[in-house]
Amino acid sequence: MTTPSPTPIDHWISGTRVPGTSGRTAPVYDPATGTQTGEVPLASRGEIDDAVKTAVAAAREWRTSSLSRRAAVLFAFRELLHAGSDELAAIITAEHGKVLSDAAGEIARGLENVEFATGVPALLKGGFSEQAATGVDVYSVRQPLGVVAGITPFNFPAMVPLWMCANAIACGNAFILKPSEKDPSAALFLAELWKQAGLPDGIFTVVHGDKEAVDALLDHDDIAAVSFVGSTPIAKYIYERGTANGKRVQALGGAKNHALVLPDADVDMAADAIVSAAYGAAGERCMALSVAVAVGDVGDELVTKISERLPALKVGPGAEADTAMGPLITREHRDKVAGYVDAGAEAGARVVVDGRTGDVPADGFFLGMTLLDDVTPDMSVYRDEIFGPVLSVVRVTTYEEGLALINGNQYANGTTIFTRDGGAARRFQNEVEVGMVGINVPIPVPVAYYSFGGWKDSLFGDTHMYGPEGLNFYTRGKVVTQRWPDPATSTVDLGFPRTR
Ligand code: NAD
Repeated sequence: MTTPSPTPIDHWISGTRVPGTSGRTAPVYDPATGTQTGEVPLASRGEIDDAVKTAVAAAREWRTSSLSRRAAVLFAFRELLHAGSDELAAIITAEHGKVLSDAAGEIARGLENVEFATGVPALLKGGFSEQAATGVDVYSVRQPLGVVAGITPFNFPAMVPLWMCANAIACGNAFILKPSEKDPSAALFLAELWKQAGLPDGIFTVVHGDKEAVDALLDHDDIAAVSFVGSTPIAKYIYERGTANGKRVQALGGAKNHALVLPDADVDMAADAIVSAAYGAAGERCMALSVAVAVGDVGDELVTKISERLPALKVGPGAEADTAMGPLITREHRDKVAGYVDAGAEAGARVVVDGRTGDVPADGFFLGMTLLDDVTPDMSVYRDEIFGPVLSVVRVTTYEEGLALINGNQYANGTTIFTRDGGAARRFQNEVEVGMVGINVPIPVPVAYYSFGGWKDSLFGDTHMYGPEGLNFYTRGKVVTQRWPDPATSTVDLGFPRTR
């Protein structure tokens, strides 16, 4: 049997597929088999420049389109995306590896953002103050920025682009997406749907690439704003280079999310939640729980209950119905994650469940689920974002000790507390220095009408993603102060009495 040659993947410029011309490409794999399935072009500065030119021209028209027309396009896009969910989920699973139900879940969370953006006529309403001074009215409007760019990570190839593009386009901008080169095909599927929904050509563009393409976007005079989601070192770089070039930048970075489990918690509930949040999508979620902080005497029961649940979870290809966890994104990443387990064991952590020896398929980039107990904050397995199926349990004696541990961490994306005590939960949500907080909810990703973002090294910039903050990010405020001459002073006959 011959192996089929990798499929060439195109850019999407001016409403059509465009092959890359830079001569540079990167391989795209099916992580479940380890075979190369695609070849993605890496755009040159010249190709980025061409893409931006078409976006600039299209944005000039789109900003004048009525709010009702924009809403109509978004409604049509919503229907198409809903109808195409299964097809898109299969595309995501084939390049990312996550199980199909998880891929469907990410599309559902992305759809929420499209649904939010359909409300653009109401959402962009400004304020009006009649008679702010005698005969003077003041009102505010929000106007689009022009051309904006989104640079997105591999772990949510549909949802994260939708976090950005739905609001950016609804606000009247042209949006250029530079998706992850590891799973680029979902972006093209979205592009086809935008076109079918009636979006004018040039308003949604996809350019693939690596650092060269990203730098070209960050340096381009005609890009007004950059939204980024990815790892912390790159987020910091994007923020610094983009803002130095005078752009608005929101750059979301990595995470190390803790669950604080109090002694009064419903331990079965906590164990179920922590297992799904730690190992779902092979731990490759920015809101994955990677540290369980067990307070007081809850540790033994918690570790036992988590470890009892893991053997029932099958690791295998994401497209197979009974699979609970798929492979990691690349062979290199799988080996790096396994290296963290080695380092944790060498540093003295107790390996309760060892993913390195798990029952996993031989081909593909698989690693089993690992549970480490007695992890301490000096270990690399605690300090670093691992982004894999590894859960560390840290034992502390008091709530204060657990809180101090979480607040001392450089990352501050999400956290959650498990307790039956409303007062303890209320205190925690007030005292914890983290952007998104769950109370007996393991993955507290805000719904689309709030905004998403962490604190500290999990976010560079001051605007969170999507929701109301997303609308502000993609528009500029303008305030108009107006005075009209009193008609009574007019010498022209207006057909009504000059005095009231
Ligand atoms: P990454 O930082 O490696 O890549 C993200 C994007 O940046 C990709 O489009 C990539 O092509 C580009 N990029 C990579 N290296 C670059 C460089 N040197 N210069 C310019 N651009 C570069 O991240 P990833 O591995 O794709 O995704 C996983 C990371 O994303 C994790 O750290 C995860 O926590 C984070 N993440 C964060 C959130 C959040 O909301 N905070 C959400 C999802 C993922």
